[in-house]
Amino acid sequence: MSNLNDEQYRAVHYRGGPLLVLAGAGSGKTRVITERIAALVERHVPEDAITAVTFTNKAAKEMRERLFDRLGDKAKLLRICTFHALGLAIVREHAKLLNRRANVSVFAGGEQKSALKSVLSDMKLPADADQVDRLISRISALKNGLLDIHDNQLSAVRERYDQLLERMNAVDFDDLMVLPIKLLSEHDDVRALWQARARHFLVDEYQDSSRIQYEWVRLLVPENGNLTVVGDDDQSIYGWRGAEVKNLFLLERDYPALTVIRLEENYRSTGSILEASNSLIAKNSERLGKTLRSNLGKGKPIRVWESPNPEEEASRVASDIKARRLTTDDAHWDHFCVLYRASYQAREIEMAMRREKIPYHITGGLSFFDRAEIQDLLAYLRLVANFNDDLAFMRAISRPRRGIGDVALGELGQFAMAHGCSLLEACLHDDLEHKRAHSLKEFGDLIVALEFQFKHGEADEAFDAALDLTHLEAAIRAEAADEAQAEMRMGNLMELRRWWILHADQGGDLSSYLQDIFLLADKKDDDPTGQVRLMTVHASKGLEFDHVYVIGMEDGIFPHASALEENRMEEERRLMYVAMTRARYHLTLSYCRVRHRFGQKEKSAPSPFLKEPEQSVLRWVDRDLETEDAKEEADDFMAAMRRNLERLQSGK
Ligand code: ATP
Ligand code: MG
Repeated sequence: MSNLNDEQYRAVHYRGGPLLVLAGAGSGKTRVITERIAALVERHVPEDAITAVTFTNKAAKEMRERLFDRLGDKAKLLRICTFHALGLAIVREHAKLLNRRANVSVFAGGEQKSALKSVLSDMKLPADADQVDRLISRISALKNGLLDIHDNQLSAVRERYDQLLERMNAVDFDDLMVLPIKLLSEHDDVRALWQARARHFLVDEYQDSSRIQYEWVRLLVPENGNLTVVGDDDQSIYGWRGAEVKNLFLLERDYPALTVIRLEENYRSTGSILEASNSLIAKNSERLGKTLRSNLGKGKPIRVWESPNPEEEASRVASDIKARRLTTDDAHWDHFCVLYRASYQAREIEMAMRREKIPYHITGGLSFFDRAEIQDLLAYLRLVANFNDDLAFMRAISRPRRGIGDVALGELGQFAMAHGCSLLEACLHDDLEHKRAHSLKEFGDLIVALEFQFKHGEADEAFDAALDLTHLEAAIRAEAADEAQAEMRMGNLMELRRWWILHADQGGDLSSYLQDIFLLADKKDDDPTGQVRLMTVHASKGLEFDHVYVIGMEDGIFPHASALEENRMEEERRLMYVAMTRARYHLTLSYCRVRHRFGQKEKSAPSPFLKEPEQSVLRWVDRDLETEDAKEEADDFMAAMRRNLERLQSGK
């Protein structure tokens, strides 16, 4: 591992309390966090007193892996995770104080919607999809303290929604942020416990932490505590989600002993890439201002491509990736990344990758965990693990259909309400008298039988019983369009089975398995190794790639049209800065002349972000074909091809 520079060294070994590392992209901020944790452990700070939060589960995983390499098994006790995962750990540990049990479920998307729907229908309020979506985001804003209104109806809905979640032994994503604040501020013993676990508290990507997350920091770290935050105001890209650069200023107010260290050496990108990025971000006025020097020499100019339409743009990207992989020594597919502003733009690229037989991985695409068969089986497993999970009950009882209709379910719901029990418990209740009582009881017995299997049986047999007794496997085979589809769906379930058996082998139970799955599902990425990466610019924060292509560099796409209206141009420019600074050696920016919008062909104009960077480091490939650079690059390319050919011919 290469050495730290002086400023990095100072940050890694700083012992004077609160510390802010404020520095541009690629200057080693994340590396400082990792090295600092290693240094603390080497100094015999107990691992259990170190907590680090990162922005994504993936970043946490990478950091943990690096520390495992450095420290071995000691790294096990380190707490490195996202704010949300930390929130879940706090909520689970102190579930009792929240009137919940330790195996709390986390409701996301669909489950949250059905909970809200049932509240609305009980309150005799309209519950169409639009209304539900609108209310979900308003309740979320309310919980995050972003909405400060006095709307009685909204408060009433929120109250009943929260009660329903409590009754179902569940929380939603916002609760994972908000409930820990409640716990930490209302219970001195809880606060003392977590303050001890966060005696060294480190935060990566601090510029995108929200007001609530800052409250966490305040509750966990006293004024002179060991707080280390690293961030870059120029990379704040989640303003719409309540992240506030203001947090950087609040730090100075609330932690007067704060020391600020600036890193000015960039180790990631070539001089040209850095010059283009720096000159672009200089157009923003709301900046703290930073210096960033490249360490790698000037490198190649940044290519700007013009294509007739998105299909041709995509083919061009795909063939370029193929060619570069051939002509660059030691280039792997996963050294390439294609970035776009909005996720729908992945479609053409994905098709081109398939055509060219290039392995690719879409970060945050339709997740494995969103697939119907996975959700169906997980509903059963959640119910087995938690008899109070009414939403899992609702999904499970309808998959496959058991001839139990809405009216029967409604009556079951009333029975449950009257007896103060969950829907599943109602099915098992001796007093249940109902014309469908028999089928309901049968369903209840099935879940009880599975619970027994999962508790006392062999892991693989329990899982197979779940597939068989629920008739899910039969339903999948009966409903699939053809054999191949049935196999694919069963294959997905077998993947869950494999994880379950691994998990059980390590002594885990069904609840902890479901908790892991929840974290994985949130991360939405299977292993991207060996594949070209396709992702939105938002998802690329903190990552780096040798070769980066930013597609759709058109006015109205990037910057996004809404940015013009809502005065969010500066944030959009920061997003562009993030995109450009992901690249190490090669950066290509690409736009189309024509694009289909709402079924119409429309002319598009190049993005203003193509005109803002220092033009001497840009090469508009399709305009100035005959430049020296272009010739030089063509020569390089031919020479590399020849080298490769010779290598192939000589059989090496
Ligand atoms: P971002 O703002 O994009 O999150 P960052 O500031 O977190 O960037 P890192 O990802 O930590 O930057 O580092 C960027 C690259 O520079 C990494 O590949 C890292 O290994 C490398 N690097 C960091 N410090 C040094 C150093 N002192 N010598 C050589 N390489 C370094
Ligand atoms: Mg970083």
